[in-house]
This record gives sequence, structure tokens and C-alpha cells, in this order.
Amino acid sequence: MRSSMIPLAVPNLSGNEEKYLTDCISTGYVSSVGQYVRQFEGAVAAAAGTGYAVATSAGTTALHLGLTALGVRSGDLVLLPSLTFIASANAISHAGARPWLIDVSSESWTICPDRLRETLETETQKGPNGVVHRESGRRVAAIVPVFTLGLPADMDPVCRLSEEWDIPVLVDGAAALGASYKGHRSGACGAAATMYSFNGNKTVTAGGGGILATDDAELARLARHLSTTARSGDDYDHDMVGFNYRMTNLQAAVGCAQMEQLDLFVKKKQTIRARYDRAFTGHDAVEAFPEPDWATSACWFSGFLYRAAHPDVLRQKLRDRGIDARPFWKPIHLQKPYLDCPRSDMSVCEALWQSVITLPSSTGMTDHEMELVIAAVNEALG
Ligand SMILES: *Cc1c(COP(=O)(O)O)cnc(C)c1O
Repeated sequence: MRSSMIPLAVPNLSGNEEKYLTDCISTGYVSSVGQYVRQFEGAVAAAAGTGYAVATSAGTTALHLGLTALGVRSGDLVLLPSLTFIASANAISHAGARPWLIDVSSESWTICPDRLRETLETETQKGPNGVVHRESGRRVAAIVPVFTLGLPADMDPVCRLSEEWDIPVLVDGAAALGASYKGHRSGACGAAATMYSFNGNKTVTAGGGGILATDDAELARLARHLSTTARSGDDYDHDMVGFNYRMTNLQAAVGCAQMEQLDLFVKKKQTIRARYDRAFTGHDAVEAFPEPDWATSACWFSGFLYRAAHPDVLRQKLRDRGIDARPFWKPIHLQKPYLDCPRSDMSVCEALWQSVITLPSSTGMTDHEMELVIAAVNEALG
């Protein structure tokens, strides 16, 4: 069965990837210097709607870089939705901080602005060094909304809180390239910076890699400086504790070829979403993935919410039929390294996460494969 399984999400390398890679090798520019890195940054900045983009080795390192550039330091807390991929929490830990976990809203599966406000109002106070978590005395240094599955969070209320409390917003928009919020591109919804990932399972890939996108020239300069060992001259002078987080020209070459197809890929993802929604939401136990009216999702993965017992049994049935049906993120507050993080009530994400069923969503899927998935799901749902 395994070999004929329709996979969840595989890269679509049907464009200029090979051509650009060959160019890197024949010119010798395989490392972090080369035209593709700059070109890739330009293409992603344009798609994100930002003035600047700094390419990195991964989405996780772009987040770490962004947090560091925004001044997050050892001992701080960073507000984060619990429903996210573990990398968002890990980047916070790498910066020496701890996540402060907030529940998501059921209408979007993204950070709940009401919960966020309530948490800030009841559990923090403003002090001379910023906002402080009363119980632990830790400074609250950033808010990191996550654009779940490429769906923007409700950023207007989040950004109002950011202004009111003077806490910067760094978006984990890992899979949100091509999404929009109230007509704004996903990097232009009010955050200080937005991270994108180009891991192999994302809609556009660079084999691996990330971007920190921002409109803030100074933040971009600092992030770029930190990402390249904070070198301050040609003679091994370095003026800060930097990172080696640059993207290579090889990665960027693949990324450039992928960016040429971004619109096409996102349209395909949205088509898959629409077809699955149409096919399955007639079943009693099935709910569509959320689509609040404030945003257009980039629809990284599609599938459905299965509001009946034993979603694991349904997933197994589908896998037995050659359909790679998977679960979704296990919330961070249930993960071993983060069990003791401060957190809000988690009733929404706890009721949600085990019921999510993700289905094959590759941009290279054929109509026939989509029909096979739909037939298998309808059969399994009975
Ligand atoms: C993929 C992903 C990441 C990590 O990106 P990498 O490039 O794999 O480091 C972080 N957050 C979210 C929400 C993701 O989906």
C-alpha cells in the first residue's frame, strides 16, 4: 500500500529548479554569496508586501533571528498560540525566553484576540522595563501570532493590543505566502516582521530555508547583520553575538524557480480546499477548515474536522485505502518541553486538535488523484 500512497504534500519541481541549480554549479556560486539569494529576497518581499526580506537557513532560524532582533532575551516571555508547530516554541526557547501559551479561536484556529486581551489585562502590569507577567516577574517581550495552515490571524485587534501594551508582533507565517488579510498581503498586516518557511513540505520550497520579511529598514539591517556572524569589517571583526543563519545560493536558486509559480501553486491549493469542502461537508460529522471573512487563506493543507469518535480509526481506514490522511499539530502545552509554561484556558484547541484530518494537498495532484481521495473519504465516512 505504502508505495502507491497518495502523499500529503510533496514538492512540485516542474519549473526552472534544475536550470538555476546548474547555473550555481557552473558559476561556482553555491554558498551564501550569489545572485539567487538577492533575487529570492526580492521575490518574497514582493509577495509578502514588505520592503525588505532577509533569507535564512530555515523558518525556525528566521524566527530566532526575528525574536533576537526585536530584543527578546533570556528570561522573557513570548505570547504564542498553543496550536502551532513546535518550531515556533523552540525558536522562543533558543532566544532564551519561554512561550506564554494562549488558546486559539474556533472561527480561525489562530490566536484568540479576546483571550490575549484578557490575559494581558488580568495577569500583567506595566513597569519601567515594559510589561511584566505578575506571577513570575518575567518581561513580556513579543507576541507571535501563527497563520495556521496559511490563514492570517485577526491582526487588527492583535496589533491594537501590541500598540496599547507596546509589545512587538512577530508573525509565524510559515505557510502563509500568497494569503491576504483584509486585502493586505500576508506580510503587511501590521506586524513588525513576518517569518516564512521554505521547508520541503511547504507550498513553495527552497529545499529548506526561511525569510524574515519586514517594512522596517533598521530591523532588516540588524537581522541581516546578526544572520551573518555580525561581521563589522573585513578583518574578522564582529560587534555582536551573531548567527550563521544565511541561506545558500543553491537553496535560493530552487526558491527562485518556485516563486515563479507561487500564484499558480496557491491557486491549486485553494482549488483543492474548495473541492474537498464541497465533497465532504454534507456529512453530519464533518466540518470544513475555518474561513473567516477577514482573510483569504493560502490553504497549505486541506482536509476536514471530524466531529465523531475515533478520528484515528478514520485516518487508518484512509491510509489502508492509499490516502495519506494525517493528524494535525499537537498543542504546545501538551508537549513535554513546554508542560510548565504559563498558559490560558485551552478549551478550544483541546477540543479541536485530535479531530483534524489532513488529506493529500500537493500542488502537483492530478484531478484523478483528487477524485480518488474524495471517493475513499466518502466510502470511509459511510
Ligand atoms: C514549517 C513551520 C515552521 C518551521 O519552519 P522550518 O523552515 O521547517 O524551520 C514553523 N512554524 C510553522 C507554523 C510551520 O508550519
